[in-house]
Amino acid sequence: MPELTRRSFLKASAVAGAALTLGKMAGAEAAPDPAGPGAAPSWTNRPMRWAQLTLVENDPGSFDAAFWLDYFRRTHADGACLSAGGCVAYYPTRVPYHHRSAWLGDRDVFGELVAGCRSQGMAVLARTDPHATYDDVKAAHPDWIAVGADGQPRRHWASPEMWVTCALGPYNFEFMTEVKREIMSRYRVDGIFINRWDGAGMCYCEHCRTNFRAAAGLDLPRTLEPGDPTRRAYLLWRQERLFALWRLWDGAVRAINPDSCVIPNTGGGAASSLDMRRIGELAPTLMADRQSRRGLMPVWANGKNAKEYRATMGAKPVVGIFSVGLDEVYRWKDAVQAPEETKLWVADGIANGMRPWFTKFGGVINDPRWLKPVEEIYAWCRGAERYLRNERPLARVALVYSQQTAWFCPAECAAAGEDAALGWYQALVEARLPFEMVHDRLLDAAHLAPFRTLILPDIAALSEVQCEQLRQFVGRGGGLVATSGTSLRDEWGGPRADFGLADLFGASWRGRIEGPMHNAYLRLEHESAPAHPMLRGLEDAPRIIHGVWRFEVAAHAPGPPPPLTLIPPYPDLPMEKVYARQPRTDVAQVFLREPPGGGRVVYFPWDVDRTYWDVLCVDHGKLLRNAVAWATNEDPPVVVSGPGVLDVTFWRQRDSLTVHLVNLTNPMMLKGPVRELIPAGEQRLRVRMPGGLRARALRLLVAGRSPQFSQAGEWVEVTVPPFAAHEAVAIDV
Ligand SMILES: [Zn+2]
Repeated sequence: MPELTRRSFLKASAVAGAALTLGKMAGAEAAPDPAGPGAAPSWTNRPMRWAQLTLVENDPGSFDAAFWLDYFRRTHADGACLSAGGCVAYYPTRVPYHHRSAWLGDRDVFGELVAGCRSQGMAVLARTDPHATYDDVKAAHPDWIAVGADGQPRRHWASPEMWVTCALGPYNFEFMTEVKREIMSRYRVDGIFINRWDGAGMCYCEHCRTNFRAAAGLDLPRTLEPGDPTRRAYLLWRQERLFALWRLWDGAVRAINPDSCVIPNTGGGAASSLDMRRIGELAPTLMADRQSRRGLMPVWANGKNAKEYRATMGAKPVVGIFSVGLDEVYRWKDAVQAPEETKLWVADGIANGMRPWFTKFGGVINDPRWLKPVEEIYAWCRGAERYLRNERPLARVALVYSQQTAWFCPAECAAAGEDAALGWYQALVEARLPFEMVHDRLLDAAHLAPFRTLILPDIAALSEVQCEQLRQFVGRGGGLVATSGTSLRDEWGGPRADFGLADLFGASWRGRIEGPMHNAYLRLEHESAPAHPMLRGLEDAPRIIHGVWRFEVAAHAPGPPPPLTLIPPYPDLPMEKVYARQPRTDVAQVFLREPPGGGRVVYFPWDVDRTYWDVLCVDHGKLLRNAVAWATNEDPPVVVSGPGVLDVTFWRQRDSLTVHLVNLTNPMMLKGPVRELIPAGEQRLRVRMPGGLRARALRLLVAGRSPQFSQAGEWVEVTVPPFAAHEAVAIDV
């Protein structure tokens, strides 16, 4: 092909390729991954308690392998993740430039640990970490090193004698593939766990520049602005490269051991950079690397991690990696966390369906205080294993999360959506309602079948197809609760003139957002909407505070009098001027519809959920709870009465049902670490038995007791005595 023709051909195919990529990304209509997932290795559902030992380079000369194998035995760990290679090899590798530990000598530390774990019947994963390398590698293969925006190769930020590698070029695609082949050939491990495999920020190396230009016809972006078309093309291209890398590595290890796989350390919620829907298709199991909380983070964040992963993983095993140390930005990797904090964090993960995985850096123990608490957690898990092998959650309410909103909408819009989701999460925990999370690209009838109500917390970006799926959900009798700018943008974050879901809301946007509002209120219309379910718990309140951002909307048709109306903002200073100029309007601040088909729709044209996370006003919490109750229009599956803040989950196992109560009642609930577990008061638990099931036996798995219980019709009732971190009520059926 003449050069010119070849160039135009390349350019044409690059455009076609970019269009294809965009089409693939374009929401729910996208086809499954063309390469398809490999079959799940036979072992993936077996391990319930994982142990990770991440060796440091000088461990081979100083750590006590026998101690660790004994600790794995004492904790009844049935899966192990052990350092093998990448940045440091802990076995006598023959792959050129694969750096052996300088303390290795002629030992095979990895091989010794693998053999020990195997003799204890454990599944074994080899850990690799490719994100950093050395001078000799840079000298021989300068193109393997990541390049910064300034065009210079990147030194490692924490170990400046090392170099950051490019994740999207030959270092990973060629060198690390050879490393994986060698590990799998020599040890036939059950899988290879890949840490920090997806790069450390943008890379401007020659491979990234050439490959991006070939795929998208563009130069690499120099902006993080989500609306920038080049940035958007880069986000999609990077994902394609990483999924291609995943499939390459997975194919390479399965070619050697068909009953194995690679497990990239990846995934998460809305802000996660790889498409969780495709991850859910590819991964036979996944580890949620959320080791502990940091900064201002609620205890329930670990349960949220579990829900986000399970939204696309379904019933496939999801494992929760937890640290025994502190995980703050200062990264004290040798720290030991307060045992109360670790216990509560892990309990919330387990209650939400994650299998625990402790991770310890360094084989030499500088501080042994974590050993006993982890042993206690794992001993309990082993005893309760039958009730932790969940088949499905029995929640009827689900909170939608949207990666496309986080990726493509303007930053302030995505941030508002994330805060709205956190507000809902807190409100649902306080309402003691079991709930799940749903990925916005899995809104098809099969994925939504378990749910009666969907919550859309300011989910801005929704495609026409997704809007239609939501219409069909409501048409099948589903409840929908939406807030703020939900559906005001398309799947690429582009603005719409009106809500994509305007017909469901019964209201249209008038093109104006008011805010940030100071000193605005809501009038509770007890006279014209008497005893309205939206006002439950607010019977004595004539008015409550408004939110901060209000979407001006117009109703499509006159409806019944709204229970909430607007009292517009009025001056908050000087104090002499603080009086409502318009104490009463007819501007509805909630829209309630019952379209044909039995579904119910609640739309708040303001940020009740985001403001709840910001301000935590009790009245707003009641509005959120009432909205879900009205939209759901059926008894909740579990009713828990008693003092305290509890995260409540409800699961079906093969021969049982289990209700988890995680006690979040603690001054450190929203910012750790917890230093004392403060017992929750006695709880009265009512469980609605699904499908006419009869309770044969009931046991409190933490207290280790079988209290009196009763069943009347479909309701089982029992009193749960005070408990510290966690109680699990197991009902045999
Ligand atoms: Zn690169």
